[in-house]
Amino acid sequence: MNVELSEDQIMIRDAVRDFARSAVQPRAAEIDRSGEFPADLVKQAASLDLLGIVIPEQYGGTGLDHVSFALFIEEIAAVSGALAVILDVHTSVGSEPILDWGTDEQKARWLPRMASGELLGAFALTEPDSGSDAASLQTAAERRGSEYVLNGTKTFITNMGEAGLYIVMARTGGPGARGISAFVVENGTEGLRFGSPMHKMGLNGSPTGEVIFEDVVVPAKHMLGPEGSGFKVAMKALDSGRIGISAQAVGLGRGALDLAVAYAQERVQFGRPIAQFEGLQFMIADMATAVDAARLMTWQAAAACDRGEDFTHLAAMAKLFSTDTAMWVTIDAVQIFGGYGYIKEFPVERFMRDAKATQIYEGTNQIQRIVIARELLRGD
Ligand SMILES: Cc1cc2nc3c(=O)[nH]c(=O)nc-3n(C[C@H](O)[C@H](O)[C@H](O)COP(=O)(O)OP(=O)(O)OC[C@H]3O[C@@H](n4cnc5c(N)ncnc54)[C@H](O)[C@@H]3O)c2cc1C
Repeated sequence: MNVELSEDQIMIRDAVRDFARSAVQPRAAEIDRSGEFPADLVKQAASLDLLGIVIPEQYGGTGLDHVSFALFIEEIAAVSGALAVILDVHTSVGSEPILDWGTDEQKARWLPRMASGELLGAFALTEPDSGSDAASLQTAAERRGSEYVLNGTKTFITNMGEAGLYIVMARTGGPGARGISAFVVENGTEGLRFGSPMHKMGLNGSPTGEVIFEDVVVPAKHMLGPEGSGFKVAMKALDSGRIGISAQAVGLGRGALDLAVAYAQERVQFGRPIAQFEGLQFMIADMATAVDAARLMTWQAAAACDRGEDFTHLAAMAKLFSTDTAMWVTIDAVQIFGGYGYIKEFPVERFMRDAKATQIYEGTNQIQRIVIARELLRGD
């Protein structure tokens, strides 16, 4: 694998870095405090063509690769984990199922409006009684002529209420994975309701909550892929989604590390900057090494995806390693800040709270280990 970025990739990384530092960073603490959805920043990201980064030019996007997507998400997460997950879910699990499974008509209907930012995407798989065991989901889709009628409740849905379009997995057949189909449900459809945003530990400003279906009528032509392939649609989406979550974790780790390095050089104790103590130097060295390794694993998975290779285990390994890294690196960054690290006026504790979610969503890290082991042990 070539670990050097192309000129185009460097250009996109630098453009996003500029946007992140000039527009997002000054707002990040306030978004965390208020918990308000940063609609203006999503709009600005759209005006920079970031919302259609993996959508082909033919459908109004920029048609870039997944390495560029990872660079984009890392730069945003290095200043705001909340905005990173809003944009990540839209770009990966919210749009890619349409790219991968949509008919020409479906692509033409939704992708241009997703690329322009008119429609934000969301992905609705999890239910109150069906999390890691996604194949046990209960939301029902009953066929009635040329339509399906959806009933059930999804929970923990990122971009809930703000999204204009939901990729929804629902049961059209018998039990298990084969009885599941995927649908695109547009916001505004009668019977589609939203719960109150959940009060989370972190990622405040990224709305998460229930999406409720009460006799929601969806045209059969809004089904993605053949009937019964919804579980495959979801698992494929999560493969590339995990590249995004891995990149988000790299950004959170890097953001916290940068803050800790700057603080260690300013803070004086025992008559010298605390950066001069070997105890902290070794912590910083370990943090930097792990964040770099996580980034390379993310790029490895993204590059394999772009080459059209099987990258399921690479994405799971990257997600597992990067998110565990983000968790301990952000905890150590708080430690380097001492008592000030524990105070909300300093930005570093936000990174620690935001990092925790990355070990849980798009498959917990226990589930990533199951995916990796299954891929390695399947014997072909
Ligand atoms: C902030 C946030 C945003 C989210 N956004 C979305 C979204 O946009 N769309 C969506 O569909 N979902 C979303 N989720 C849901 C998320 O994907 C689930 O929370 C996750 O898959 C775990 O499911 P669960 O919470 O039901 O936990 P459970 O499945 O009940 O797991 C509980 C514990 O048991 C462990 N466990 C379960 N099964 C096994 C096993 N076989 N072996 C070992 N350990 C196991 C888990 O690792 C975990 O530690 C989001 C969650 C959060 C917190």
